[in-house]
Amino acid sequence: METPAVRSVHWFRKGLRLHDNPALLAALRGARSVRCIYILDPWFAASSSGGINRWRFLLQSLEDLDTSLRKLNSRLFVVRGQPADVFPRLFKEWGVTRLTFEYDSEPFGKERDAAIMKLAKEAGVEVIVENSHTLYDLDRIIELNNHSPPLTYKRFQAIISRMDLPRRPCPSVTSQQMDACRAEIKRNHDATYGVPSLEELGFQCDNLGPAVWPGGETEALARLDRHLERKAWVANYEKPRMNANSLLASPTGLSPYLRFGCLSCKLFYYRLRELYQKVKKNSPPPLSLYGQLLWREFFYTAATNNPKFDQMEGNPICIQIPWDRNPQALAKWAEGKTGFPWIDAIMTQLRQEGWIHHLARHAVACFLTRGDLWNSWECGVKVFDELLLDADFSVNAGSWMWLSCSAFFQQFFHCYCPVGFGKRTDPSGDYVRRYLPVLKDFPSRYIYEPWNAPISVQKEAKCVIGVDYPKPIVNHAEASRLNIERMKQTYQQLSRYRGLCMLASVPSCVDDMSSPIAEDVSGHRNSSDPG
Ligand code: FAD
Ligand code: MG
Repeated sequence: METPAVRSVHWFRKGLRLHDNPALLAALRGARSVRCIYILDPWFAASSSGGINRWRFLLQSLEDLDTSLRKLNSRLFVVRGQPADVFPRLFKEWGVTRLTFEYDSEPFGKERDAAIMKLAKEAGVEVIVENSHTLYDLDRIIELNNHSPPLTYKRFQAIISRMDLPRRPCPSVTSQQMDACRAEIKRNHDATYGVPSLEELGFQCDNLGPAVWPGGETEALARLDRHLERKAWVANYEKPRMNANSLLASPTGLSPYLRFGCLSCKLFYYRLRELYQKVKKNSPPPLSLYGQLLWREFFYTAATNNPKFDQMEGNPICIQIPWDRNPQALAKWAEGKTGFPWIDAIMTQLRQEGWIHHLARHAVACFLTRGDLWNSWECGVKVFDELLLDADFSVNAGSWMWLSCSAFFQQFFHCYCPVGFGKRTDPSGDYVRRYLPVLKDFPSRYIYEPWNAPISVQKEAKCVIGVDYPKPIVNHAEASRLNIERMKQTYQQLSRYRGLCMLASVPSCVDDMSSPIAEDVSGHRNSSDPG
């Protein structure tokens, strides 16, 4: 008997790329036809949690995929609707026999995928899922750690070092492979399955500037090359430090591309590895070479079985801290109106461009939570989730818990000063002037604390504090002293009944440039702290 023809659908969600895409390769294997789809619901786009910058990044990534698929004589099908409604229809319409997609480790992704797999089973459709968004099989890490996720990075590294190297990246799809299983493309393809515009999704684009971070696999691969060129230079000559320049969007930045899977983390891993071996002549790369990528895995592992990972209550790894509820302060923080130029410039850059430097994230996260405003980290997660291009359930919530001293038991409580930190990072104040033009005529001396400038200076700068730019929302010295006291009490109570010695280092309010944040020779930050 002849075996029935395989008609595949590859479902893109993250993993928006043709390189290192094992699930897509599985769709192609022995198939008569393959359709690549992306599912989105135009009715919910504008009201979803993602902001306009992230939607634009997504649409650009889809356009890029479509362009690449065209070069292989195929197309991307952007299907309108919700997965649970769309699939039963597509299964019938296209006579689908095989569905492939990339494994999603996020708790909600797993739930969604389980429901779709059930639908596929009912329709007699074979499902193939491949792991390609992370370096390792996260469940295996958990298994090796006595069936619970490692909650210290040290422990995590110890487990990783016992595991095999990550799988090598798979080759990109070729036109020969695609030719063998070309699906019919209808003349009205664009009208039915084209990539929508932002306007079609209900976004107001009048005030939208050009994309600082263009989406897509093509851009991601070009960036990876530049990123490694920079690293090669760095590995030979100098130790990079955070400076004023690192605050700005860089053409070598990769996080949004890793977030959407325009870039494979395994490709990144192996390119780093090869580079290291070339420069260091055969010495085996230390784990720290992959520091940042491993921090990503660390948070993914911690989150995968914890649907409450982004909440305080009911989250088993999160310390319950009696945060204040202060919606006014939160709104001022989110809108960049705290009256601290360093904080406001960062929040403005975040809103305008969708990316801020790691230590800028530290600064504003500390300010919102344990540093100054004593608002829950959960509020910060939501704002970042809306505005960051690289917003990621696991890394975002994990970092916020870390920064607010809510989990992972880090032993120090550095409190960043919202004046001193900025001053030291960019003494000229040009970063502030760029994002807060209202302060552009302030002398550098006062730009981080304009309220201390004599009124004549304020008038000269055409910006009177309290009129043209807000007064500081808190007295930092007082607020941080009080908050450190509150944090100390919380931890003391906790250690009393948990017997943990978390007060080994007494919390202190220091201007934090001495903490383990410097990057080592290979461009990676110190490995004992995610920043
Ligand atoms: P590089 O420094 O060049 O690192 C390369 C890649 O490694 C990044 O693209 C990222 O995928 C990963 N990475 C780097 N640093 C970390 C880290 N500390 N933890 C985990 N992964 C890391 N990163 C996100 O990708 N998504 C988020 O939602 C996110 N939210 C954050 C929230 C807070 C409060 C903080 C303090 C950090 C957050 N980070 C997040 C981590 C980090 O700030 C960004 O990954 C980094 O700034 C991205 O810039 P880059 O591309 O130059 O990364
Ligand atoms: Mg970087």
